[in-house]
Amino acid sequence: MPKLPRSEWYDLTRDMNWNVTYVEESQVWPDDLSHGLGIPAEAWWTWDEPYKVTYPEYVHNQTGKDESVYAVNRVVGRSKMFDSLDPGWKAAILAHYGAIALPEYVAGIGEARMARFGRAAAWRNMATYGTLDETRHGQIHTFFAYGLLDREPRADWAHKAMHTNEWGAIAARHLFDDMFTANDAVSMALQLTFTFETGFTNLQFLGMAADAMKVGDLDFSSLISSIQTDEARHSQQGEATMKILVANGKKEEAQQLVDHMFWRSWKIFGLLTGFSMDYYTPLENRSHSFGEFMNEFIIKQFIDQFRDLGLERPWYWESHFLKELEWYHHATHMGVYFWRPTVWWNPDAGVSPDERDWLEMKYPGWNDSFGKIWDVIGDNARVGRIADTLPETLPMVCNMCQIPLCNPAGFLMGKLPSPEPFMLIHGGRKYTFCSEPCKWIFEQQPARFQGHLSLIDRFLAGMIQPPDLAGGLAYMSISPEEMGQDATNFAWAMPPVAPAKAS
Ligand code: MN
Ligand code: MN
Repeated sequence: MPKLPRSEWYDLTRDMNWNVTYVEESQVWPDDLSHGLGIPAEAWWTWDEPYKVTYPEYVHNQTGKDESVYAVNRVVGRSKMFDSLDPGWKAAILAHYGAIALPEYVAGIGEARMARFGRAAAWRNMATYGTLDETRHGQIHTFFAYGLLDREPRADWAHKAMHTNEWGAIAARHLFDDMFTANDAVSMALQLTFTFETGFTNLQFLGMAADAMKVGDLDFSSLISSIQTDEARHSQQGEATMKILVANGKKEEAQQLVDHMFWRSWKIFGLLTGFSMDYYTPLENRSHSFGEFMNEFIIKQFIDQFRDLGLERPWYWESHFLKELEWYHHATHMGVYFWRPTVWWNPDAGVSPDERDWLEMKYPGWNDSFGKIWDVIGDNARVGRIADTLPETLPMVCNMCQIPLCNPAGFLMGKLPSPEPFMLIHGGRKYTFCSEPCKWIFEQQPARFQGHLSLIDRFLAGMIQPPDLAGGLAYMSISPEEMGQDATNFAWAMPPVAPAKAS
């Protein structure tokens, strides 16, 4: 075979489909795992991805990527680079490691499910590489974080976070279990690869890689750039699967899967990428604002892509999404800062006078809304009333995204009709949602979500003892040494030192 040109054997090796005769199709591809939507087998066999790769090519390419990324890590790891990084940037990468490292590994379960239960051989072939990709991503993420341990013990949250009941970890697990661990092959292709990877991981990975280069964090930049090259390949499973659904009259089903996961992805990236880009990255190193990145990667590129496929924008686009884009990440950043003992990194307020000017320029009106609340926090910090800048209890969280409710901020900004949460009584239990789309996602599949207890449900059920912030921190596995502190010890709030007068 090696003597033949690639074009003469490639199609045969990537795309060998046959009709099963000894068993039923439903036994080979059970609906719960495969979700073929009644589309006939032969129609699935037209599945075609644009990026084609053979196993020898795959192994060759991946070895090269690993060699270069580990080489950077070996060199940088011995240097003093990490110690010299800005404290806000350190917060951004610690948050990233905890939220992303293990989920990368778990995404391999999702890819493996498509590799077994995808309805076309070409798809299963592609997903096999995807499984190997995600295994690599889990490994390099945890390895890089491990290398930071002697300088930052909380780098172990790269491995630890997802094994705890820390609130952000609960939110991430709830999302990722919905998207991949507990998902079927077709929904996975549309939700994980099409919506999440094509749309949102670009934002965290390309956007953060650009900022990392400017910050001078070669280690992190090479890590996430290397990962992104794999994501760009395996995310194409989404579009290939989407085309089959649309061509076979399943556009409505496709739309619902996308609408569901677009909203969920927005909530988590609005939180994580939002504060990383607009508050934690040093001002002089910011390539774009979070809002500009959202415009470029989500509003322009991604939406064009799904319009080309014949889909509509999600139903909540104008009414909820574009409105949240104007306030949500500023509110969650402030919430994370205030509840900083509950996270494994040191939140950077990011609101020194120069930073506020930048925020006002990028988000006109910021000073009159969020700026005023930061004024109060700053006043308390200046007179040493630090206790007043800290929480005494836990905030209400959403029963879908599991993220604390920031509705009053949206209401004050004139973007929400009321500061009240969205409630639902279902099966005799009361559920609380941050937003109409989170409630809508629940109502589409109540059986899928109804049994989960949010952190606050657990608190109210007496599962967190003692029932106060200290008990909550213990439940979240956060020791006093680990809990987040103000990243700059309130330097942002202090007046600039006046230059010495000439005598
Ligand atoms: Mn990955
Ligand atoms: Mn991926």
